[in-house]
Amino acid sequence: MITLPRKIEKEPIDGNYTTIKLPNDLVIEMDQLIGKHGFKSRAEIIKDALRELLTRYKNSELPRFEHFNIDPDGARITDRKRHMIADIYFKPEGIFCDLDKSNGCEHIDFALTVPKIQEIIREKIKEGWKLPDV
Ligand SMILES: [Zn+2]
Repeated sequence: MITLPRKIEKEPIDGNYTTIKLPNDLVIEMDQLIGKHGFKSRAEIIKDALRELLTRYKNSELPRFEHFNIDPDGARITDRKRHMIADIYFKPEGIFCDLDKSNGCEHIDFALTVPKIQEIIREKIKEGWKLPDV
């Protein structure tokens, strides 16, 4: 197998800008957006598209779920995939997710893995609350 040397991209060191070549079919398609959606130039479209892509990859490196505000009444779970916050409530009749209006969803599954939440739930179970075993 012959391996061709891979061309190394130029470092963006010449001033504040870097020139990048794009295939013309993509540019033609992109030009149709100029004058629409507030875009005035190719550069604006590229910058907007690239920022969105970079944000997406940055977000995908973070865990999907994260907990905060844990107290005896419930917890809040950040859902980075749905870009929403799920409020989880602990009640005598069971556990409830306000986002899904459900007592069984991914947010609850995640919440039940958090040690601090497990501690609260075990205490509440002792008081007779109908919560899942953790
Ligand atoms: Zn949920």
